[in-house]
This record gives sequence, structure tokens and C-alpha cells, in this order.
Amino acid sequence: MAKSDLTKTDNPFTNAMQQLTLAADVLRRTVTRNELPDLERNIALLRQPKRILNVTVPVSMDDGTVRIFDGYRVQYNDARGPYKGGIRYHHQVSLDEVKALSFWMAMKCAVADLPLGGGKGGIIVDPKLLTAGELERMSRGYARAIADCIGPDKDVPAPDVNTNGVIMGWMVNEYINYQKSKIPPLPKLRGTGKNKLTDREELRLRSTFTGKLIRDGGSEGREEATGLGGLFVLQTMLARLGLKGEMTAVVQGFGNVGYNMAKFLSGAGFKVIAVSDSRGAILVPGGINPELTLECKKKNGYLAGCYCSGSVCDLTKGKQITNEELLELPVDILVPAALENVLTKQNAPRVKAKVVLEMANGPTTPDADEILYKRGIPVVPDILSNSGGVTVSAFEWEQNLKGQHWTKAEVNRKLKLRMVSATGAVWDASRRHKIPMRTAAFVTALTRIFAAMK
Ligand code: NAD
Repeated sequence: MAKSDLTKTDNPFTNAMQQLTLAADVLRRTVTRNELPDLERNIALLRQPKRILNVTVPVSMDDGTVRIFDGYRVQYNDARGPYKGGIRYHHQVSLDEVKALSFWMAMKCAVADLPLGGGKGGIIVDPKLLTAGELERMSRGYARAIADCIGPDKDVPAPDVNTNGVIMGWMVNEYINYQKSKIPPLPKLRGTGKNKLTDREELRLRSTFTGKLIRDGGSEGREEATGLGGLFVLQTMLARLGLKGEMTAVVQGFGNVGYNMAKFLSGAGFKVIAVSDSRGAILVPGGINPELTLECKKKNGYLAGCYCSGSVCDLTKGKQITNEELLELPVDILVPAALENVLTKQNAPRVKAKVVLEMANGPTTPDADEILYKRGIPVVPDILSNSGGVTVSAFEWEQNLKGQHWTKAEVNRKLKLRMVSATGAVWDASRRHKIPMRTAAFVTALTRIFAAMK
């Protein structure tokens, strides 16, 4: 292993390659001398994406000027199926970030055993500074700019930070119009400006984007899938760890993932005693009621004072604490579900939870990972714990391709099967090789990807 690979940096792609190096070292111990050249070749191939698309998106602004936005689509690996991964709008998007995220998507899809590879996209933009019309024109322009490189069998984008089902609706509409414009018109439609696709063909093209609204061909259960998948992973992991009984939990973040996680944890009998958002955290020792807390937060605009337990919100039932304090509470389960790099070498020695379930992407720094491992605190890694989202995205793609619409019960049943099986595979790899679960998740993913690269 090259020493430079082990240097810890803030560059996400360097960190991703460090994770690859650690897993590759484990895999080298499992192969024969004859198999080694193939393994080395595959590891070398995974050290860079297969394709990087750089796009410029001109947008007519409301004031009559034209602004050019820079964007990317990185197609990392498609050995197991079409590239899959979200599109991020953020002013700090960089090529290295998109490369890292696309690598992690390849790993996540392989851990969940989905017939998909890994990709990711992004535009350097602060979407909050755009009007609704500018946002739509930019999204449609980006979809057109990447249209030749995506498709049901090529690359299937989805929402990520600051993108959502509405934006996916604009993009899929633009993509379908673009594809129609390339079909030679049928004789009877010549001169009408219309090119025909059958409903089935159009639904197939819709599968190019997932995370769509139901009315645009989206799947039941997608919004809750990441949280529900996280619960299935946690329950499976706790059984393997031999931990049972009534347990307490805290959740950092109260957005899509954090709220749903808190809701499913409470529903499954965990006592969620603290949650937080960017403005701070609340501690409710009796256990929060997530639904009432969300209603209260929507009404007030913040969590402080939303001490909702049982069927009431009452100022005497809780108190405000900081986000830092939340991470160090003495609980059974700590769920970071907001941002990256929140568990660091500074606070990892003070974490008192028995298990960390990473629902955000990259919440634990490599230093903190080492500290928690040495302290015997299992960290269930993001590429396993939050893979429920992409799993239901894959179900959406499959439903569109087959012209089907599954019920929520069916989606959740299939989700559970995938999550239980993925958790078992990671757990077994961790025990077999005596390695942390993060490296075990990479080993599991790489083994599957390399088998497909043969
Ligand atoms: P979101 O924007 O809906 O919610 C983010 C939450 O984090 C908000 O409540 C916000 O107030 C809170 N937050 C922001 N800064 C914070 C801080 N400093 N301290 C505490 N809380 C803070 O986003 P989301 O979709 O819930 O995603 C959360 C994380 O999960 C991200 O890392 C994302 O990449 C990851 N993830 C999301 C999905 C999904 O399906 N949405 C799937 C996989 C992974």
C-alpha cells in the first residue's frame, strides 16, 4: 500500500481511494498467486471513473441576461448494470466530490445487490439564488446536455442534495422530448411537428430518471425508503450483535432521512430522546413523538420548544441542547442523518452510544472511524445503512421498464428482503476477515463488482 494513500485529507475522492486501498488489501489476502494479476488489474481500473462528462448549461435569466453554469456527470463503473446516482445542486460541487460520490454509488448498489453501477452528477450553483423559472430552465438545460449519455440501459440519474421529484419531472420531460426529436416522423405525422412514441415506449424512457413524483411514474414508498431501509439494517445488525431489549436513540438531522428514521425507530419501539436540525437539538427524556414534533417545527419554524411526547407538546417535557451535545449523549443508538464529517477525532472519544448507524453520507471521518473501532463501538456504514433509498429507486426503474406499479406493501416487503440480505453479507465479511464493517461493506461490494468485470 502506498503511504500517500493513507494520508487523511478533506478531499472526498482521496478518502474514497483510501477506502478502496484498505478493502483491496483484504482482498489480496483471499486470492491465489494466479488470481492476483486479475485482481490488481480490477483494482487499478477502479481507481478512476470510466467516463467524466463536463457540461456547460446556458440559462436565460429573468433579467434578460444569460448565465453559464458548469456541471458534471461522472460515470464510475457499470460492470453490474447501468450507472446510477443522483444529481446535486450546490455552490461547492467539485469534480473530485462528484467522482467520490459516483464511486460510493457503485459500492452502495453492489452492497444492496442491485443490477446497477455507480454514477453521480452535479451543477455548481446555489439554487436558492435562482427564481423558479431559472431553476426549471437550468434543470432542463442540464438534462439536454447529458441526454446522449443517459438512458434506461446506460445511466439512470435521481435526486440528491437540493434536487427533488419536481426537478426529476422537468428533466424526464426534457429527456423524452429530446428523444422524440430524434425519431423520424411517421408519414401521417409529417409536417405536424409531432413524433409518436407508444405509451409503453414512453414509460420505458421515463425509467431514465428515478425519484420522480408518483404522477410522473415514481414508486410508492420512495420518500420513506431510506429511513425504513435504515431501520431494517439496524434491526438485523442488533440481532447479530446480540443486543436486545428497550433501547434509546438520538437522530441528528430532521429532514427527509432524519424525520423518517425517528418515525420508524419510534414505531419499532425505540425511545428517541433527542433530534436536531441546523439550528440546534432538543432533548425529550420521555421519548419524542416525531409526527407531532414535525407539525410543531413546521408551525414555529424551529425545533426549540417542540418537546412533544405521547400525544402532547409541553414545554416542561424537554430542553434545548446543542448539536455537539446530542452526538455525545449516553444512548444505545446514535444516528447521524444530516451532514458529512460530524464524527471527528475531537468528539469520537466522547461518543457514548453502543452503535452508530450512519444515515447521512460520510458523517464519520477516517480518524473518528479508527477511534470508534478501537473503542469497540460498531459503525454501520453509510453505503449499507442508507442504501434503502437507491434500492427503491431501482424498484422504480424496474417498474417503469416492466410497465408495472407496485403497492407500497409490496415495495416495503422487497426492500426488507434486500436490506436483511445486504446486512448479513456485510456482517459475515466483517467476521470472516476480522475487519470493521465499513471495510467489510467495501469488500462485499468489490467482490461482486470484480466478479462482473471478469
Ligand atoms: P434534508 O435536506 O431533507 O435534511 C437535512 C437535515 O439536516 C435538515 O433537518 C437540516 O436542518 C439538518 N442539518 C443541517 N445542518 C445541520 C447541522 N449542522 N446539525 C444538525 N442538523 C443539520 O436531507 P436528507 O435527504 O434528509 O439527507 C440527509 C443526509 O442523508 C445527507 O447526507 C444525504 O446525502 C443522505 N442521504 C439521503 C438519502 C435520501 O433518500 N434523501 C439517501 C441516502 C443518503
